[in-house]
Amino acid sequence: MTRVWLPSSLEELWPLWAENPGAALYAGGTDLLVRRRAGLVRPEALICLERVAELGRIEPDGPEVFLGAAASFSRLLSSPLVTEKYPVLAAALQRIGSPQVRHMGTLGGNLVTASPAGDSLPPLYTLDAVVELVAVGATRRVPIAEFIQGPGQVDLRPGELVSGVRLPATDGNLQHFEKVGSRAALAISIASLAVAGRLSDQGEVLQIKLAWGSVGPTVVCAPAAEAALQGKKLTPETLAAAGELAQQAASPIDDLRASREYRLALVKNLLLRLAP
Ligand SMILES: Cc1cc2nc3c(=O)[nH]c(=O)nc-3n(C[C@H](O)[C@H](O)[C@H](O)COP(=O)(O)OP(=O)(O)OC[C@H]3O[C@@H](n4cnc5c(N)ncnc54)[C@H](O)[C@@H]3O)c2cc1C
Repeated sequence: MTRVWLPSSLEELWPLWAENPGAALYAGGTDLLVRRRAGLVRPEALICLERVAELGRIEPDGPEVFLGAAASFSRLLSSPLVTEKYPVLAAALQRIGSPQVRHMGTLGGNLVTASPAGDSLPPLYTLDAVVELVAVGATRRVPIAEFIQGPGQVDLRPGELVSGVRLPATDGNLQHFEKVGSRAALAISIASLAVAGRLSDQGEVLQIKLAWGSVGPTVVCAPAAEAALQGKKLTPETLAAAGELAQQAASPIDDLRASREYRLALVKNLLLRLAP
């Protein structure tokens, strides 16, 4: 029988983890417990982060917003700090799995799983999220694009866990997320696009960040496409030109869900949806 520890604070967690170095951390368990059941991982014990108070916080911190790693997607979606300030993130969280998965799954789990299809990741890239990591007596902050190093690979050192994500203040008036899956709900993304930026009163791009999911080993950004849109209106023509530049940055694969060619077409076509 596997022992499961349920600490309620980091102070309780650290000695438990030190005494059980073979234990695996989990939050909602929607990735780890599935992998365990499939026999892909065999942790000696489990430490659940769900009740660790510091990891469940959703709160403003100066101009930033802190989203605790163990706050479930449902809790994040019930916070106006997320839905009103960061609609691009809210739209992505709303498309994750099913109500049951959103009730259990967390941002920390999505980040550490680091799947190319992780739906929270593209919005977090466009919002310049910073991942906060904590260990005994130490905290460090890493921009999300440096934290995610590849599929399933993250910059997490031994003895560290993700405490949360910091989102800078945004005065952008453009936030958009779209995901293409094989059905409306409970679908792993075939491709997704997150957009955050600012348009002038005349509709010209003052600032724009674009990030695609599921079209490369990790989130795909396309600085050349962003630069091509700078100062321009979001017309079908400017978006098509930027979409072609983005296709050069993408490296999708063929898999059970879609072909490489279909995904490449989506890279451009998802961008065209920004045309008014
Ligand atoms: C039916 C189903 C549908 C799904 N649909 C989607 C979907 O549409 N989109 C999507 O993106 N994902 C989907 N997922 C995957 C999963 O729900 C998400 O990746 C979720 O964010 C994982 O969070 P969790 O808290 O459950 O992670 P867990 O399973 O608890 O943990 C996952 C990994 O992260 C580590 N971890 C967790 N929290 C921390 C932390 N704070 N610090 C350090 N390490 C940590 C664990 O050790 C483990 O390695 C689906 C899963 C299922 C079962």
